[in-house]
Amino acid sequence: MKIVNIEAFPIRVKNDFDIGRKADTKNINTAMLEIKNLKKTQKGSRGKNNAEKRNLEPKSLGNYETYIKDMGEYYVDEGSATSIYSKSHETTVVKIETENGIIGWGEAQSPVSPNTTATIIKDIVEPLTIGKDIYDVESIWHNNYSSKRERGHYTGFYIDAICGVDIAIWDAIGKSQNMPTCKAMGGAHRKSVALYNGIGGTEPEEVADQAEWSVSKGYKFVKMHLKENLEKDIEIARKVRERVGDSIGIMIDVHMGFDTFNVIKLGKELEKLNLLWIESPSDPTDIPGLCEISRALDIPIANGEWTRTKYEMREIFEKRAYDISMPDIARTGLTGGKQIASLAQLYNIPISPHVGGGGIVSVAATLQFSLNTPNFLIMEHSEQGHAVKAMILSENFEAKDGEFKLSEKPGLGIEIDENKLREFQISPSL
Ligand SMILES: [Mg+2]
Repeated sequence: MKIVNIEAFPIRVKNDFDIGRKADTKNINTAMLEIKNLKKTQKGSRGKNNAEKRNLEPKSLGNYETYIKDMGEYYVDEGSATSIYSKSHETTVVKIETENGIIGWGEAQSPVSPNTTATIIKDIVEPLTIGKDIYDVESIWHNNYSSKRERGHYTGFYIDAICGVDIAIWDAIGKSQNMPTCKAMGGAHRKSVALYNGIGGTEPEEVADQAEWSVSKGYKFVKMHLKENLEKDIEIARKVRERVGDSIGIMIDVHMGFDTFNVIKLGKELEKLNLLWIESPSDPTDIPGLCEISRALDIPIANGEWTRTKYEMREIFEKRAYDISMPDIARTGLTGGKQIASLAQLYNIPISPHVGGGGIVSVAATLQFSLNTPNFLIMEHSEQGHAVKAMILSENFEAKDGEFKLSEKPGLGIEIDENKLREFQISPSL
């Protein structure tokens, strides 16, 4: 069944997740933006004059200083090792069409510059893929991957672009067989998928409020995104545990904010609070350091949302650099995600797929992946962000009581409203 058309939609939904979320909740982006309005309260290594020259606003954040640089659509904290963020929900939705009119939808996660991803799809992935049979999906992935490997493009935007198309092909395969994609991938290992809800905030009471709100929505697991410092992270974790009690699972994502020594100190304290994992503890390229952290702590280390292919995973799994692997399906595709999960299974490593700022097609594809993965643990979700992500859907699709259920709907189980999608499409950068 030949692919006759491929289209990429780089989209931006303004106001980030504010439209869909309750007034008493904040996501990490909102919390980060609030830092902009705070004044410098502690002397640090960087001078105020220097910051003023660079048009940045300094703010003490424990032992470090934060310099938020506002770039219009994006912002970054130049005082730390954290990521560049978009003020809006941005992603690249992909549409494929087969010769007999089946439409498949995919997504390449693009939290910043979806135009880059869309351009790669248009210029490289589309001509490599048009005319191929959807049932050659793994071959299509491999041909696209190998075509740029010699030039060093074996991760990053290029792989995202391939994987957006890969997900769309898997949607079309499911629809062509009138079965959910997880069945076409080899079968469902479960009837429902447990979710944890991501929460933001920078103050103990504020984070605890969000945890409590998540529990009120039916979630039994919550994950804190903290970018404070050692003492404050511990203080916040204590407050959240106190508020939600011992029956709720709590995870912490520290966004690579620590060195090896300090994250071990953090972990030893968090072990006393019976947290389920520490995520992204330190520099992700420092595999010996990650091994040291994993050996030193009893609390599991979850990691790997940035890795995209099985080729990146061999050393990590062989050295057991961390305990829980977190592929992001809108970066790995369903083809690459399945390969990583299968490789992890050899090492008895569970899979907890990352979704983060991924859009609604990413959520639906990750659900199919989670249903299909034998060594699946738990899936990331954002109750607060879901309504904004779902704005491009033509029919309802949402989690209930902290889980998604296996549905009989074909493909990814969602329907995109193309008119709504086009409303959010951004024009090319060049
Ligand atoms: Mg993370």
